[in-house]
Amino acid sequence: MVILGEKYKINIEDMGHNGEGIGRVDGFTVFIDGGIPGDYVLAEISTLKKNYAVGEIKEILDESEDRIDPLCSVASICGGCQIMHMDYAAQLKIKEKRVRENLQRIGKINTIVHPTIGMHNPYEYRNKAQFPVGVIDGKAIMGFYKRGSHDIVQTDNCNIQSPINTEVIESVRKYIDDNRISVYNEKTRKGLIRHVVTKIGFTTGEVMVVVITNGKKLPNQDELIELLKSKITGLKSVIHNVNDKNTNVIFGNETKTIYGVDKIVDYIGDLKFNISAHSFYQVNPIQTEVLYGKAMEYANLSGTENVFDIYCGIGTISLFVAKKAKRVWGVEVIKSAIEDAKENAKANNVKNADFYVGKAEVVIPKLYKEGKAADVVIVDPPRKGCEQSVLETIVSMNPKRVVYVSCNPATLARDLAYLEENGFTTKEVQPVDMFPHTAHVETVVLMSRVKVNTMF
Ligand code: SAH
Repeated sequence: MVILGEKYKINIEDMGHNGEGIGRVDGFTVFIDGGIPGDYVLAEISTLKKNYAVGEIKEILDESEDRIDPLCSVASICGGCQIMHMDYAAQLKIKEKRVRENLQRIGKINTIVHPTIGMHNPYEYRNKAQFPVGVIDGKAIMGFYKRGSHDIVQTDNCNIQSPINTEVIESVRKYIDDNRISVYNEKTRKGLIRHVVTKIGFTTGEVMVVVITNGKKLPNQDELIELLKSKITGLKSVIHNVNDKNTNVIFGNETKTIYGVDKIVDYIGDLKFNISAHSFYQVNPIQTEVLYGKAMEYANLSGTENVFDIYCGIGTISLFVAKKAKRVWGVEVIKSAIEDAKENAKANNVKNADFYVGKAEVVIPKLYKEGKAADVVIVDPPRKGCEQSVLETIVSMNPKRVVYVSCNPATLARDLAYLEENGFTTKEVQPVDMFPHTAHVETVVLMSRVKVNTMF
């Protein structure tokens, strides 16, 4: 029996999908934030539900051999990273284990899961900072939100961000303080500066700074521009966006370029991308190249294939595919992403890619009915995985190969199980660490058609 408010000595045996430690008291599951497998802790039960409890560490009685001092001084409270207190090699191992166990438990799939491909330097990998602005003791602060709250954790030097982002944040803070500009308060809905977003082209060094305000004017904006110009070598673009709505959405509808260009440029491999303030772009470009490289290897294209890229975003994968295939059809629900995809195709002189906007579960069956059948299908769905009608259409289409890129091992396992029951077999499973020190895990899977459809 577990009692609320009681303290228990608990072995942390596993890690949950939010990076929390998992242990047991008399067989009853207890989630313990900050605990890692191998820790032996004294924890107080702070929440008790029917099937599980949540415990808070009061003392670490015996440390896991994977426990390290995190580089970042606010790692234990900041919501940006969840497992920075775990040795990086151990992080990679636990991600591999999570993928394997999900495939076995949910999908009943027993196959080799390759070791997670990690980063040589798992720090300073983010090309985009997106920080809310707050105030403490009359001074502006910026940083990630505290775990499970909207309190901002002041982060002077975020170790997963590019150091350029940190410099930008410092300059904007100085501008706010020197000019005594007010900062937005979510509760009262008063105050001006809401968010600061920084984007960097890692290969080009180009920098974009976006300031989002609750109000139409950015006072003394020339001072901000001059300050940024003097501090940030690659500064190419400063954008002012207005968002006066009561919402968690960061961007509002009004966007004005107040210095330089509307879009910065970056490359993934030899593909060029134009990045606007709004457009989606992978935040870890180094591992993106690794991930897409794996997806391309699994797709194994010879130049004769028709390929579907389902959930294509701004067409990143589609453009890689286009160079190696006869034709690629990209499908994506966000209209502006499809506009970017078309523009990116043009910028790269790609002529054999077509993009369709709409829900994949509607568009894919429709395109198939119109006669578009792919030899190879690539899917890269959001966390909830593929819709049933997408999977059913893939089965009817009967492609040679399916390459599944997933950000959620649980829905991946569910979808692979369906495809396994319907003529495909899982050949390769490769986790890739896109977000070191966080609990996220990305996986690329190759499935092959078991045999040619002989029903006709
Ligand atoms: N393949 C892209 C993006 C993958 S993220 C890349 O590598 O960059 C998943 C994408 O699926 C997002 O762009 C999201 O907008 C899109 N999406 C979510 N639900 C969808 C649906 N029902 N139909 C089509 N696209 C969807």
